[in-house]
Amino acid sequence: MTAFFIMIAMPIMLLFVAAGTIISLQTNSIQESYDVEADTIQIITNPIQILNRLTRGIYNEIKLAALKEPQKLESETFINHLNGELIDKYSFIAVRKDDEFIYTGNDVMLSNIEKYLQRFGEYNTDVDGGMYVNGRSPFLVKAQDFYFTDGAEGTVFIITDLNTLFPQIKALASQTMISFLFILIFTALILMLWIYRSILKPLNVLRIGMSQIKDGDLDYSVQSDTEDEIGQLCEDFEEMRIRLKELIDNRLKYEEDIKELISNISHDLKTPLTAIQGYAEGLIDGVADSPKKQEKYIQTILSKANDMAILVDELSFYTKIDCNTIPYSFKEIDIREYFDDCIEEIGLDLEMKNVEVQYYNELNQNTKVVADAEQIKRVINNILGNAVKYLDKPKGILQLRLHDIGAYVQVEIEDNGVGIPKSDIPYIFDRFYRADASRNSKKGGSGLGLAISRKIIEDHAGKIWAVSELGVGTTITFTIKKSDGSVK
Ligand code: ADP
Repeated sequence: MTAFFIMIAMPIMLLFVAAGTIISLQTNSIQESYDVEADTIQIITNPIQILNRLTRGIYNEIKLAALKEPQKLESETFINHLNGELIDKYSFIAVRKDDEFIYTGNDVMLSNIEKYLQRFGEYNTDVDGGMYVNGRSPFLVKAQDFYFTDGAEGTVFIITDLNTLFPQIKALASQTMISFLFILIFTALILMLWIYRSILKPLNVLRIGMSQIKDGDLDYSVQSDTEDEIGQLCEDFEEMRIRLKELIDNRLKYEEDIKELISNISHDLKTPLTAIQGYAEGLIDGVADSPKKQEKYIQTILSKANDMAILVDELSFYTKIDCNTIPYSFKEIDIREYFDDCIEEIGLDLEMKNVEVQYYNELNQNTKVVADAEQIKRVINNILGNAVKYLDKPKGILQLRLHDIGAYVQVEIEDNGVGIPKSDIPYIFDRFYRADASRNSKKGGSGLGLAISRKIIEDHAGKIWAVSELGVGTTITFTIKKSDGSVK
């Protein structure tokens, strides 16, 4: 748009302004010089016609005198008087008697063109206009034949000097040419400046940006302060750089995660495996010499194998959920009933682990949500599992609260465990993330439980977050959308 304006509209505008100014200045000067009223177009297209008009009044007077009172043309006073009026109009009168000039208003000028003047009777005096005589200098000549009182042939001329007019018209043309050239140069300069500022400079910045990216520096930011196409290009480039950076960062993070996962898995699988090996060898070597001991060994082997199975299960589930290949089966469920059953099921197990469960259900009867019951169970198990796993008090207290918050049901699960350091809280829902404290402890765990839970809750259009105080306890809260009746 700007380029269009600079390249086309601006020179045209400038040309018009310049041409207008020059023409009007020249026109004024012509008008002033010749004391004539005429418009610019007329002056330019037919200047001689205008000058013709200048002397028309006096010419008519002379014509009348020549036809009616030729003796007047013999009177010097009469001619002098008329000639005086013509001086302002760059004109003068000359009177020829036979071949002699008996009167001339301007000797020098007359001698210049004398030889070009026609003889008596050769002028067509019916036509109102002058003859253009081009001697050394241009002149406009009007003539009228008459007979002197003594019968001699006479011609009276009105001669107008065009010398002043022609240079003005020439000046008009040359000034227009010069200003045209000036405008061309000016426009070219502005265009170059504009191209440099708005194209070359940002292009250079872009080029540097590209070469930085080529060399692997994805932090080099390309900024443009213009709104035009180049500015847009810079913005797109910047967006591309940010995306590329994100992509590469994600890729690096993913690779890091995979490495960490492999190291975690090998560590987490190694611990129960070593135990299984030890107990199995104990059985073979006869270290377990009584049936009671043997049964204890076998029980331990089974429990360690179970731990391993859970870990492997969690891993394979996470892979599926990460690729969005979990086939959810959403149904409308009565959330009150669902949690009542849940508490009944896990309550006993928790009591055996010395954890007291306090259950507050504030939901109305018949509160329905749309959910996959099995997956929500997985979320609850993960959260409760953590509450037990990270319990550091002799007696665990677990509160489960259900609230109605309008379009959602809010589930809060609070424990009185070890708590999570403030700096770790934002990351505990990331895959493979384990707070340092728990990684260093022998608690086990893959760092996948909460990542899985978040994915499941988000797939239910809900939210999950944690509030925790180190040494006091942790509350994990999640929301599930209430049913609008569209799913049965
Ligand atoms: P993990 O298998 O390590 O428990 P999770 O994804 O379930 O993995 O949890 C991530 C991290 O969050 C844990 O390693 C632990 O540091 C912290 N965490 C989760 N729940 C609790 C809790 N109730 N109390 C203390 N820390 C917790």
